[in-house]
Amino acid sequence: MSSTAISTIAFPSSIRAQKTHLSSTAAVVMAADKLRAQGVNVIDLGVGEPDFPTPEHIKNAARQALDENFTKYTASSGIMPLRKAICDYTNSNFGSDYAPEQCCVTVGGKQGIFAAVMALINPGDEVLLENPCWVSYPEIVNFAEGKNVLIDTEATDFHLTADLVKAAITPKSKLIIINSPSNPTGRVVDPAEYKKIVGICVERGLWVISDECYLQFVYPPFQVNSAAMLPPELRSRVMICGSLSKTYAMTGWRVGFALGPKDWVTEVLKIQSQSATMAASIAQKAALAALTGSQEPVQEMLAEYRRRAEWFIPALNEIPGVECGQPEGAFYAFPNLKGLMRNCGFATSKELADELLHKYGVVGTDGAAFGAEGYLRLSYANSMEALRESVIRIGQMVADASARRRPAI
Ligand code: GLU
Repeated sequence: MSSTAISTIAFPSSIRAQKTHLSSTAAVVMAADKLRAQGVNVIDLGVGEPDFPTPEHIKNAARQALDENFTKYTASSGIMPLRKAICDYTNSNFGSDYAPEQCCVTVGGKQGIFAAVMALINPGDEVLLENPCWVSYPEIVNFAEGKNVLIDTEATDFHLTADLVKAAITPKSKLIIINSPSNPTGRVVDPAEYKKIVGICVERGLWVISDECYLQFVYPPFQVNSAAMLPPELRSRVMICGSLSKTYAMTGWRVGFALGPKDWVTEVLKIQSQSATMAASIAQKAALAALTGSQEPVQEMLAEYRRRAEWFIPALNEIPGVECGQPEGAFYAFPNLKGLMRNCGFATSKELADELLHKYGVVGTDGAAFGAEGYLRLSYANSMEALRESVIRIGQMVADASARRRPAI
């Protein structure tokens, strides 16, 4: 067979692979990289990740791990001091009583969520998700052959409520994934409402994944609220999926954790041991330093995100056709651009995001990727200078589009 013939053979993708889509957040990273390589001055508000460097004491712990040749396999569940540190951090902040056998260190928060879903969901089981939600939840549920049941939150200004959850539960419901603060909306579930939501789910026999990736990034008067604060009878059906990525500006280190009922964690561990094996040994040492060292950098990042949001959101709202609510946590603006789309003649938010990217070099993530057509997610984990420039460029796009649509005299 000639080499040409070999290269034309279609790859026989599995049904599972065919049904899986490239993550939209990963796609925007690739799109931004491509434009940068072409020499475009890109303002990247696409992927959600802190623009701060990983704090020095965390990097030093990784350097020390390297120097001490801590570069081999560890237990698949993670090194014991780290599992203990995750439990201590959670117990001391939120009054819980987790023990290390209830904790598995995972390869970023996403791997924890993936394994927790795969460990629970059988084909046809219903999984409740708020809509809009993070791009990976429905994909992971599809991967497990579960059925996504989307709870629309646009009418409640993207706040998940106990009434909405109650109305969505059926005899087939098995799991709900709650993400507060939410990616992409930046909304926070009030602690009392949160307890009510979990209470209803537990009463109806559901299990809960609490994705606490943005846990520490909440803007007062809104309150930090972890599932670890729930009473034991509710907590016994909740898996906390935590991540060090955002909290400590460690996105590239890939360390997260699953913390919850021992039997569920054991299943997560089995799945991780057969896939990723474990989080990188060096990154685990860095994570240990992050959790046990000074928490000041976290507060500094939070204050800076708040300062940026206070400028960025009103500035977006001044653009004709843009309506953007004030984020309560995380670091995303999630403007409603339906008016702007109408004014400028964009049929979809994807069309708008593409135009913004290719003509104006501003990377945002299309709201439709999160289940909210007509919205755009803009990460303000970026410098004030970049945010200012993005507003200028969006304004320019609007002006150009209006000029195009103005009837010729
Ligand atoms: N959570 C980040 C985001 O939504 C990136 C991580 C990811 O999607 O893998 O942009």
